[in-house]
Amino acid sequence: MDIRELQRLDAAHHLHPFNDNAALARRGTRILTRGEGCYVWDAEGNRLLDAFAGLWCVNIGYGRRELAEAAARQMEQLAYYNSFFQCTTEPTIRLAAKLAELAPGDINHAFFVNSGSEANDTIFRLVRHFWAVQGKPEKKAFIARHNGYHGTTVAGASLGGMKAMHGQGGLPIPDIHHIDPPYWFGDGGDMDEDEYGLLAARRLEDRILELGPDRVAAFIGEPIMGAIGVYIPPRTYWPEVERICRKYDVLLVADEVICGFGRTGQWFGSQYFGFQPDVMPVAKGITSGYIPLGAALFSDRVARVLREAGGELAHGATYSGHPVCAAVALENLRIMEEERIVERAREEIAPYLARRWAELGEHRLVGQARIAGLVGALELVPDKPRRSFFPDRGRVGALCRDIALRNGLILRATWDTMLLSPPLVITPGQVDELFEKAWKTLNETAAELG
Ligand code: PLP
Repeated sequence: MDIRELQRLDAAHHLHPFNDNAALARRGTRILTRGEGCYVWDAEGNRLLDAFAGLWCVNIGYGRRELAEAAARQMEQLAYYNSFFQCTTEPTIRLAAKLAELAPGDINHAFFVNSGSEANDTIFRLVRHFWAVQGKPEKKAFIARHNGYHGTTVAGASLGGMKAMHGQGGLPIPDIHHIDPPYWFGDGGDMDEDEYGLLAARRLEDRILELGPDRVAAFIGEPIMGAIGVYIPPRTYWPEVERICRKYDVLLVADEVICGFGRTGQWFGSQYFGFQPDVMPVAKGITSGYIPLGAALFSDRVARVLREAGGELAHGATYSGHPVCAAVALENLRIMEEERIVERAREEIAPYLARRWAELGEHRLVGQARIAGLVGALELVPDKPRRSFFPDRGRVGALCRDIALRNGLILRATWDTMLLSPPLVITPGQVDELFEKAWKTLNETAAELG
């Protein structure tokens, strides 16, 4: 492989998502070539421990031949057919039924799309439709959180609360309202975490009352806010949000795109926090990232209204319920169940990982080490005893991420927070390797800062 030539072609022809493309063109992109278990290899021959599971998605680890074989079998038999025109395919049906079995409570109905973003766009439209066909077209406002992430499509990015995304393309679209997220480390001051969780949840009630409950269609939130820095809410937060949604008949949308399929050690993040959503976007771990697939999952109540609304459901994509993606998802879920990957992550890995993660929290650069199951963050700070931030936010995080890569470890940085989300199949030995590489990385980062 001619790496320099590929980098030249990449710089000339490929616009990368969420990158400074001019800077990347000067620096040269890293080309990944192979994956096995928790490791990936780049074109320079470096072996990297992927503590981020690609992009929070390779839950069963890299290199599972069974998934490739499931895709090949389905491609040979029937590479494509749609779910329009009163048709569908066997894997699509079986996957919808499997999701009904796995999803909590009466979340029993799937609308298939290709990504988490599209799942959220679907939800945005269908939730409004749900209220409109019941004679409540004015019940169409969505409440979401500042710094939440719900994808990159127009509705997804609008529901998300990322200022940088809103700044490009004139977002958010109207009638999406953002409240402050539950971020105890940055916002909780001297409050006890549980008390703070209630306060953060009641921001939702205040906003519902301000807008008028008859105007509010839904509240959407990630059980754990991932992209902004793995904000793990206090235990009190979600049950209180659920109580408020029920009180005002506001649909509760749990964006499970990251948390779904085992990330917290439970199948879904809502189970980790003990609440019942009405609607759930899922993607990523549904296929462990082997092939693109997303779904908007709905409760019996919501699906019944959508089914019985009369007329055509005017929504869908060419690849909604793609049989190859469905076959891969089914195989992925089969392996996860047969190998008890979620249970093992919860019982065997999560407690050990939490212990070692807490040890990283002792480092003088780390203000807080937080973790829930197999998702965590290290908040890097200039002055450990105080909850303060570096003045030029993002510089130290990027430095730490680059040093980690030199040490053979992939961690993501959001501003100065280092994010953790390894494949669920990580072993205790690999947790030790992760710890050693991360500790070395923190030392070298601290040394560079002087
Ligand atoms: N929702 C959440 C919580 C996410 O983290 C993401 C992606 O990271 C999305 C939605 C968007 O999913 P996708 O990138 O598959 O469109």
